[in-house]
Amino acid sequence: MYQATSMKAEEFISDEEIRETLAYADANKDNLALIDRILKKAGERRGLSHREASVLLACEIPEKINEMYELAKQIKQDFYGNRIVLFAPLYLSNYCVNGCVYCPYHLKNKHIARKKLTQEDIVREVTALQDMGHKRLAIEAGEDPVNNPIEYILECIRTIYSIKHKNGAIRRVNVNIAATTVENYRKLKEAGIGTYILFQETYHKESYEKLHPTGPKHDYAYHTEAMDRAMEGGIDDVGLGVLFGLELYRYEFAGLLMHAEHLEAVHGVGPHTISVPRIKHADDIDPSAFDNSIDDDTFAKLCALIRISVPYTGMIISTRESQAVREKVLPLGVSQISGASKTSVGGYADPEPEDEATSAQFDVSDQRTLDEVVNWLMKMGYIPSFCTACYREGRTGDRFMSLCKNMQILNCCHPNALMTLKEYLEDYAGEETKEIGMELIERELSNIPNPKVKQTAADYIHDIAEGKRDFRF
Ligand code: SAM
Repeated sequence: MYQATSMKAEEFISDEEIRETLAYADANKDNLALIDRILKKAGERRGLSHREASVLLACEIPEKINEMYELAKQIKQDFYGNRIVLFAPLYLSNYCVNGCVYCPYHLKNKHIARKKLTQEDIVREVTALQDMGHKRLAIEAGEDPVNNPIEYILECIRTIYSIKHKNGAIRRVNVNIAATTVENYRKLKEAGIGTYILFQETYHKESYEKLHPTGPKHDYAYHTEAMDRAMEGGIDDVGLGVLFGLELYRYEFAGLLMHAEHLEAVHGVGPHTISVPRIKHADDIDPSAFDNSIDDDTFAKLCALIRISVPYTGMIISTRESQAVREKVLPLGVSQISGASKTSVGGYADPEPEDEATSAQFDVSDQRTLDEVVNWLMKMGYIPSFCTACYREGRTGDRFMSLCKNMQILNCCHPNALMTLKEYLEDYAGEETKEIGMELIERELSNIPNPKVKQTAADYIHDIAEGKRDFRF
């Protein structure tokens, strides 16, 4: 039986409720009165329930889809402004005991190059990332209690935070590792992580079990209930995601929103972020073997509907997507993107030669440098942000949400974005990027509403040019 507040996976992600939702959405996909009511509610920035959002997803009326896009753009502008936060993944180890059929790390894959970073390797990787200008990482690892135990992950986090190369520093480490225990989540929290990210892959239990035939990840309930354990362990910011292509996207979309509703109902705070990865080619993985792939228009519609359904949840697009797709979905609600990513283990300091066995998790579509990404964002009118202030100031979970809800972003996130961009321009940017960036900062400073904040931000930006670093509101 469906119950958002239940702590049992099969009750808060009820298959029956999803099926009824999809039937309800089909029955109402041309019901203009209902669709307009739902759009009106979304327009009031109240978010949407999984049922309401599913009706919009089923609706194929072009004018209504345009309204959804316009609303998504407006909500993104109101809550996130034109800032885009940048990060990079750091692959620690691809040893894995699971059998996930879409992932090249699977245990039976004998031709992938298995690698695990030593602490010395991490110093080299993080130095390379700092030299590009990155301040925020998402660490990634396969699941292997012998090769990648929690102690290894914790040691890596400590090493990453300790590296200070020139003006570089990693100020926020998000963590994407397999579902684990409350005790381990508590240790991750104590190590000072930002968001704990875990993709559900699919909310469809039967498919989940087939797609994860062996290994600890086979356990659907343990995986699906992981975010509750993470929150019990004290982690306020959790990131959800579905691997699109594995199951029917409408099923996944309803499941994803039900998961967000569950977290809000039980913990009083929804997910900090939602990621929307699609399956990519990888060693031993042919994406065409998965017949639920979605086209770019459906992908864009999903992004727009996530934006209007959970307005306070950040949305992440990785370099799995091409420059063109990223351009299409950025205005529809994306708030964070990765840049200059390498999915191989050790790939930043030592790019893998083409003719050797790869350790990479998947092919990257957007292969531009960070400077090219920063330059491109600014030319499109966005402010690339390297801000990590919120969690360092203790604004996590519901405290971050209240910042959003009180529309204080322009007095807080906006100046923080400009100051961290200024650091990037001073330390890492190419000539052209620097020129565009300096003009952008001048222009954008005038958009800070509070006169005192505006003056302080201008002073700090001046100080950054003089060599000082790490200011924040
Ligand atoms: N092992 C951890 C876990 O079980 O969640 C860490 C996650 S893994 C390093 C990061 C994510 O990459 C996975 O959750 C999965 O969604 C995604 N992934 C795996 N294979 C992929 C592929 N072929 N294409 C795109 N994304 C993939």
